[in-house]
Amino acid sequence: HSNTPRTRIDDLPIRDELRGKSPYGAPQLDVPVRLNTNENPYPLPEALVERIAERVREAARDLNRYPDRDAVELRTELARYLTRTAGHEVSLANVWAANGSNEVLQQLLQTFGGPGRTAIGFEPSYSMHALIARGTGTGWISGPRNEDFTIDVEAAKRAIAEHRPDVVFITSPNNPTGTAVDAGTVLALHEAAQAAKPSMVVVDEAYGEFSHHASLLPLIEGRPNLVLSRTMSKAFGAAGLRLGYLAADPAVVDAVQLVRLPYHLSSVTQATALAALEHTDTLLGYVAQLKSERDRIVDELRALGYDVTDSDANFVQFGRFADSHIAWQRILDRGVLVRDNGVPGWLRVSAGTPAENDAFLDAVRELKKEHD
Ligand code: PMP
Repeated sequence: HSNTPRTRIDDLPIRDELRGKSPYGAPQLDVPVRLNTNENPYPLPEALVERIAERVREAARDLNRYPDRDAVELRTELARYLTRTAGHEVSLANVWAANGSNEVLQQLLQTFGGPGRTAIGFEPSYSMHALIARGTGTGWISGPRNEDFTIDVEAAKRAIAEHRPDVVFITSPNNPTGTAVDAGTVLALHEAAQAAKPSMVVVDEAYGEFSHHASLLPLIEGRPNLVLSRTMSKAFGAAGLRLGYLAADPAVVDAVQLVRLPYHLSSVTQATALAALEHTDTLLGYVAQLKSERDRIVDELRALGYDVTDSDANFVQFGRFADSHIAWQRILDRGVLVRDNGVPGWLRVSAGTPAENDAFLDAVRELKKEHD
């Protein structure tokens, strides 16, 4: 075999739009302090681990059967959670769940995007929006932002009127900048999108629980083309679970079922998510701690003389660096992994435990000294 040349991706008859591209890949490096993927630093509490084991044991007895295809119990509990915490009453019919909000977004693009259609996002934003667009054959349009990373409403409305996209992504709080979007902006873009097409507006609220502002969930009322996407990866500290969900008009929930794979959400996933939802209050306690650590990181970075973008998420964008990749490496040399999202001059750090955040702040304090 050794003299046969290795087959490369491009030797395969892959789709043209995938040729020469790289997959999503935040480095998974083994370093003492990992603050690069906006995970929750707190492991699940032991009582919840026990409850998951119990519920999964029950589910295991039925693993010879396919799971509840419509995840009725789970969607009911997610609706209850949203009703209680997001300022608007929703029910089973408004909620859909999938394997991470990435899969929710993929199902939305399979349903409302696809070949011959386009989606727009306001960049820098979550890079998977463009990647999922590509994977579903949806054309991607990169919309503008202001210098301070807020959405430039007039420029965004012009871009929507010009390109007439089928799907409009609004990420609030935005990743990687941490920027929240106010309801007025969402309504203005929604109106522009309806006038232009009409199209679907997807509000990605993966970090909603960490915001200083209320959820944008109430905006779905009377707007069947507006979808809110959420995840248990961040606030629930369950990135490994892979559970995301959406809230929208029941027609949207019916529509995504046209593309979802049958039995996409395993019984083990459903059982685990249900157990986590039983411990919502404890988990939201960790969210409160992370919010105050996030605010501390913002304050201390500013005191050190860094530029910091206002953050409503569990991470902070800071700079500015002449070369953000070199700065990223210097911080890594001190045992702290942050994220270089390719936004020139800026890096992103996730809020960790107080000790992890101290280690990060020590590293950037030293970095600052080197340059003064
Ligand atoms: N949306 C945004 C804005 C994100 O940052 C992420 C995770 N990095 C996701 C969606 C996807 O998260 P998950 O698939 O784990 O729900």
